[in-house]
Amino acid sequence: MYKLNKKCIIAIDGGAGVGKTTVSKYLSKSLNILYIDTGAMYRAAALYFIQKNIDITDENIDKYFNDVDVNLKIKDGENIVLLNNKDVTKLIRTEEVSMGASDISKNSYVRKKLVEKQRKIAGKESVVIEGRDTTTVVFPNADIKIFLTSHIDTRAQRRYNDLINAKNKVNFEYVKEDMIKRDIQDSTRKDSPLVKAKDAIEIDTTGNDVKKTGNIILDIINEKVGLSKI
Ligand code: C5P
Repeated sequence: MYKLNKKCIIAIDGGAGVGKTTVSKYLSKSLNILYIDTGAMYRAAALYFIQKNIDITDENIDKYFNDVDVNLKIKDGENIVLLNNKDVTKLIRTEEVSMGASDISKNSYVRKKLVEKQRKIAGKESVVIEGRDTTTVVFPNADIKIFLTSHIDTRAQRRYNDLINAKNKVNFEYVKEDMIKRDIQDSTRKDSPLVKAKDAIEIDTTGNDVKKTGNIILDIINEKVGLSKI
């Protein structure tokens, strides 16, 4: 375990399956700081509309959004995602919700509301925050900005394994195609597209396990902010 020598915002960006979530959890545990999974918030918002059978691509979705309350909390060391106070942590990890999240995240009103919430959750503490606009929009002045990349086959395999472990019945080629579709949609949307911030440090995670990528980032943090071993 390490202790940060000063308050610090660590933002991790990148496309689907590059390892953002696993590496962010590793950093949050190693540094004992809060972890904010912004993708989980877009997923929970999408789940609300899927459950209510409301068309996510409806341009007037704003009017329903006041009824959507998304929150993150930590229970027994695990990150829990709440939708209107119900635990939806497991329900948001399906391909339907992945695509729904990518659809809903195009809506500027939804983005504005969720970004406000993310900044509020981060508050005055040190945090590791991950998601596709965290280094560009949510915290453009983050102390540490990382952009993860990986070969498409590695990324699809990671997502496929996650889905299988969560007991979803999926086909590898389908998962890969969905991922490519989602990348295109996320990188070409008008509001906050997935792009690498100019000052973000790029790390290719192909062939790395979480420890290897996590320790590369810890070295970067140590160099920029300073870490003490505890
Ligand atoms: O990271 P994850 O795969 O859970 O994100 C699901 C979707 O939510 C992404 O494909 C993206 O469209 C959207 N998202 C976003 N901005 C973020 C995090 C996620 O638009 N900060």
